[in-house]
Formats: sequence, C-alpha cells, structure tokens
Amino acid sequence: MPLPVAHALIGASAVVLSRRRFSLKRDWGMMVFGAALGILPDFDIFFSWVLGFGIKWHGSFTHSIAFAATAGCVSAALRREGEMRDIPVYALATLSHGLLDVITKKEFGGAQLFWPFSQRTYRLKLFDYFEWYPNPFTDPLREIFERAFQISCYEALIFAPMLAALLAARLWLNRRRERQAAMKEGQTGKETDEHYSERI
Ligand SMILES: [Zn+2]
Repeated sequence: MPLPVAHALIGASAVVLSRRRFSLKRDWGMMVFGAALGILPDFDIFFSWVLGFGIKWHGSFTHSIAFAATAGCVSAALRREGEMRDIPVYALATLSHGLLDVITKKEFGGAQLFWPFSQRTYRLKLFDYFEWYPNPFTDPLREIFERAFQISCYEALIFAPMLAALLAARLWLNRRRERQAAMKEGQTGKETDEHYSERI
C-alpha cells in the first residue's frame, strides 16, 4: 500500500499540474499544503486502529470525491491568500490519494470513491504495490518501522523524480510564455514606432 511519502509527493504533483500559471517562488507553500492534503485521507486509520471500528473503515469516506471537494473548499477558505479558483487545486491534491489507492490495490483495500452514494470500495486489481498490511497490535513495532522506512525510500525514488520532471516542465512552459509575451510586446512597440515614423 502507498505510504505517506508517495501520497505527499503525488499531492504536491497535483498542485503543480493543476495550478494555473504555476510559479515555484509564489506557490511553494501551496505545494506543501497539497502534500499534506495528499496524506490527509489516511487519517481514517484512526477509526480502525484507535476507535476499533474495524479495518473496513480504512479507505472509506475520506477517500471519496465528496470528501476531496469538501477538503478543497475548506482549504481554500483556510489559506490566507486562498481564492475560489484554488478549490479544484486542493480538491485534486486530496483526491489524488484515493485515485492512487485505487490504482495500486489488488487483493485488499481501495477507495470508496462515490461515498455517500455508494459504499463500494474500488480497486483496479492490476498489481499489488509493496504488498504490506501491518497490524500495530500484533506485529513487532521495530519490524513495522524498518519496513515502512524501506518502502518510503523506494517511494521517494519513484515519485520524487516525477515531481521534479513536472516542476521542470512547468517552469520551462512559464519561461517560454514569458519569452513569447516579451516578443509580442517588442513587436507591438516596433509596429507603433513604425506607425509613428510613417506619420512623421
Ligand atoms: Zn489510503
């Protein structure tokens, strides 16, 4: 199952991908927030492990489109510079969690994407990504931490380059757009100068 490192990197990537006119200097805080939103749905483990509601609660309502939309609205309202147009960006960062769970689960788990309209847990059943379902009540904690650390390292190796590639692509697009705008401005200026000299 994907661990917080994968979800955080995908959440940040969702911000880079969906933010209109992304700027690293201006939007790095939004990226960090997106990373946190990417992890947020797995806090439903509280219902399973702490309140003892059973493992079925994991992957439930916090992994749904409805929850992602709500988290998007609340996040945009909470962020100081939050604006309405940021709602889809935050919602997508939150939903990226459920989608990654759906893609990477085979035998167990998944996401109740359409809660509250359907209780069905969706998973693509294509491959099992780091097949590991720890039980903190029966498994030795040392083993759990060691395996979690190992998987987190693999996740950083897989998803950090993806985020870096997305960032590089967005920054390249920004630079190209700026160059085009500057060229257009230069052309307009030249045309105005030519027009002015013609009139003289
Ligand atoms: Zn999850």
